[in-house]
Amino acid sequence: MSDQPDLEAVLRSRTPIVALETREERRALDLLRQLANRLPWPVYKWTVTEGLTSLAFDFALEGRHTDPVAILRHIRDAARPGVYVLVDFHPFLDDPVNVRLLKDIALRYDTNPRTVVLLSHALALPAELDNHATLFHLQLPDRQTRRRIVLDEARRWKAEKGRKVGADREALERLIDNLSGLTAAEVRRLAHKAIFDDGVIDAHDLPRLMQAKYELINQDGVLHFEYATERFADIGGFSRLREWLERRRSAFHDPRPELDVPRGILLLGVQGCGKSLAARAVAGIWGIPLLRLDFATLYNKYHGETERNLRKALRAAEAMAPCVLWIDEIEKGLSTSDNDAGTSRRILGTLLTWMAEQAKGVFLVATANDIQALPPELIRKGRLDEIFFVDLPDRAARKHIFDIHLRKRGADPLHFSTGELARETEGFSGAEIEQLVVSALYAAHARQAPLRDADLRAEIARTRPLSVVMAEKVAALREWARERTVAVD
Ligand code: ATP
Repeated sequence: MSDQPDLEAVLRSRTPIVALETREERRALDLLRQLANRLPWPVYKWTVTEGLTSLAFDFALEGRHTDPVAILRHIRDAARPGVYVLVDFHPFLDDPVNVRLLKDIALRYDTNPRTVVLLSHALALPAELDNHATLFHLQLPDRQTRRRIVLDEARRWKAEKGRKVGADREALERLIDNLSGLTAAEVRRLAHKAIFDDGVIDAHDLPRLMQAKYELINQDGVLHFEYATERFADIGGFSRLREWLERRRSAFHDPRPELDVPRGILLLGVQGCGKSLAARAVAGIWGIPLLRLDFATLYNKYHGETERNLRKALRAAEAMAPCVLWIDEIEKGLSTSDNDAGTSRRILGTLLTWMAEQAKGVFLVATANDIQALPPELIRKGRLDEIFFVDLPDRAARKHIFDIHLRKRGADPLHFSTGELARETEGFSGAEIEQLVVSALYAAHARQAPLRDADLRAEIARTRPLSVVMAEKVAALREWARERTVAVD
């Protein structure tokens, strides 16, 4: 693992601003210190507390310039070329004076070459600087290194406790996989935790590990983490989707040269028919965590910075790989018919580029209700592996949904004629059937008697399902889907 040649090449490439984003400040500074001896220019370090120091010799310089504006002026006006490493400068990038000074430094680079390295744990460069900056990331430990660290922690446990760590081979391999995207120190810390809590590496360690990893990686709340436990056993219908996923399970976990790595699906369909449940079940049956990308937060919280933050969220998802990235109601985030069409276009562009280049290990599940609002680029063949249509459940699926929801609420389905009830609920969605069960239970409770078929029938008679209320819309959606999509069941 060597970052040195890469960073040296960047610094020699006449780039005025290098954005070095890392949670390993000490390692980055050591690397820059080593490079200071190889580069033809002096390398300086600046922090708001210490001001300017020489990085190689670690001594303070005259006029320390602890003030951010003063240091940027100093760099801009310095007579000689140099590399200035500004540590934790990110809070000061909110100030337009600092942004302009950085741009001045960049624009004068040809006549006065000075490189500014912005070193922070998280950086959001203002758009004004994009053209002048190069992003640099330190390499993270590869699989072999991660394995070495885990085994090293296992040896330490044995030396301390006098007995071997109990490890289930599959869980060990999954642990090593799931430690990807972390720094060496973090890998060690999490491996230590997994081993030293009970001296065993097994399937119980994984959810905890993924939760801890998520907390390290997700700092701004755009991604929500769930260790999904949903299984297809609790979902009526979806047999074809289930089979599709089971066939690809091993290619996703263990890519083979002759098989394309599964990249993602779109679940399009009628409201309340289980798209969200199915998205969770993908993660559940593949045994990987689910990350939900929240477009609403992306737009609200970061007005004007939406694109950059989407890129950041996608990078975080890559670091969480293997995982499912679920984008719920994707059409709402990408709709190009709203007032802010420019932003939506760019967001769509960012997402499509990511999908095309996407690193292995992130499986995208997008869900959508409204085809009108879906950008055609997204559903073009080849972007996603498959577009599935989630239709209203058929009779067999409806029976299954009755069974599931009765059982969930403590009623034995065998005491009900769920086959008959399924026949009487043509056009009902899964959510509506669930609601029937819930309301019928209230009715039974009010009578202080056990739930009966008649309670369910009374609720059926009272309900006007969405497929009736919005018959035209549902018919249009089905018509559209018939030619373009694959049914989930
Ligand atoms: P929306 O488009 O409104 O978000 P959706 O298609 O994502 O709807 P879900 O949120 O998954 O639907 O469904 C709502 C609830 O209805 C689920 O939490 C579940 O309890 C029930 N439900 C829907 N479809 C099914 C199904 N096929 N099997 C079991 N339960 C279902």
